[in-house]
Amino acid sequence: MKNNFNYWMIKMRTVVVFGLALWGLYMTSHISYILFHSLAEFFSITIGFTAFVITWNTRHQLDNNYMIWLGISLLFVTSLDLIHTLAYKGMGVFTGYDANLPTQLWIASRYLQSLSMLAAALFFQRKLNPVAIIWISLIISAGLVISIFTGVFPACYVEGSGLTRFKIVSEYIIIAIMLTGNFILWRQRQAFDSEVLGWLMTSQFLTICAEVAFTSYVSVYGPANMIGHFLKLIAFYFVYQAIVKMGLERPHRVLFRNLKQSETALRNALEEVQKLAIIDALTGLYNRRHFFELAEFEFQRAHRYQRELSVIMLDIDDFKMVNDTYGHIIGDQVLQEIAESCRQETRKVDIVARYGGEEFIFLLPEIDIETAMQVAERLRENIATRKITTRAGSVTVTASLGLSNLTEDYPNLESLLIAADAALYQAKETGRNRIFWQKPLHKTAA
Ligand code: GH3
Ligand code: MG
Ligand code: MG
Repeated sequence: MKNNFNYWMIKMRTVVVFGLALWGLYMTSHISYILFHSLAEFFSITIGFTAFVITWNTRHQLDNNYMIWLGISLLFVTSLDLIHTLAYKGMGVFTGYDANLPTQLWIASRYLQSLSMLAAALFFQRKLNPVAIIWISLIISAGLVISIFTGVFPACYVEGSGLTRFKIVSEYIIIAIMLTGNFILWRQRQAFDSEVLGWLMTSQFLTICAEVAFTSYVSVYGPANMIGHFLKLIAFYFVYQAIVKMGLERPHRVLFRNLKQSETALRNALEEVQKLAIIDALTGLYNRRHFFELAEFEFQRAHRYQRELSVIMLDIDDFKMVNDTYGHIIGDQVLQEIAESCRQETRKVDIVARYGGEEFIFLLPEIDIETAMQVAERLRENIATRKITTRAGSVTVTASLGLSNLTEDYPNLESLLIAADAALYQAKETGRNRIFWQKPLHKTAA
């Protein structure tokens, strides 16, 4: 509850701080729109470069190719955005150009961004060479910049009349490419940590919204342009969350997710193997081998300190007939139900195991023979009254039980088990569905 509260307090604080930063940024637009624009762009450029630096320097260990694509594409996209910022109307860096230049650079950057994201979503499952991606991105980016500065790239903005048809149609094409990329990414969501994927998809969705705003501005200083830049800024904030923050704080969720997953899978497999080594797969009770490990320890303890210790050996009556009548599968189901009876009638400290095919064994520490007889009787009754529902109808079985308890007659575990087995034999001989215990004859008395 408290943690939840803290979580929301931190979220609230982030929203307030970020909101104040956005408001401050908005206020700068009253001083100068160029100042606003430069700050907004520098924010996303910084995040883009940082994301690249993180993914690039972890590329040898990185197990998700999408992150490499994203990092590299952000380097080139933000580089184009940097030129776009420097080319903005009024910056005075590239003289002799009007507002068409930054608009062309903007469109070029968005084409590069949307196509990179689409390619990343399509190919990230394949083994890729990051250096090759760098070269391809570099050639495309350089080609775009050269075509813009040499006048080959179509005009995007005409002073006085606003955006050209090419620019508006391009924004819609870019939106379509981004939607496709986002959809493909979502279809491959199992390859991502859900929170990271959430950040990335929200970021791309906000970029799409920004593009919608950019289809409609008249002036490069106008409100639609400003809204577009705000949305882009927020979109980059989510990239920051997904790669920079999560990548540094919890790298196993972003950068080394597969490594973490294989470690978890290995640990689960090990636990499974450890479990299989001691548990009988059909009934879930301990297996015979593990019974002896535990029983030997209990026997030594009881023998050394002269504590009570009882053994019950249980064998299902005429089980062959169950198999012959209903088949092996139903026989197995009966065994599982009997195991359930065994669990129900014993304590946590009792050692209950499947001793053989349809034989079960119980070692009851600190239990004298009178109490052991009560336990055995409860077991017998539980089994005899259990209606086992199977697809072949209701099945009932009975069991015979033999008991022994630790006295000086039994110097080792084996002798105590032999006594229980002999008692079980007597229970079978005297009619089945019963318990039997033979009072030991003291050797010393004999
Ligand atoms: P009794 O009353 O004398 O114990 O008669 P029984 O038929 O139960 O005696 P027996 O020990 O000769 O038969 C045991 C049968 O249990 C034989 C075997 O096919 C069956 N069995 C052993 N293990 C399994 C198992 O894992 N699944 C199934 N379905 N049957 C098993
Ligand atoms: Mg039997
Ligand atoms: Mg048997």
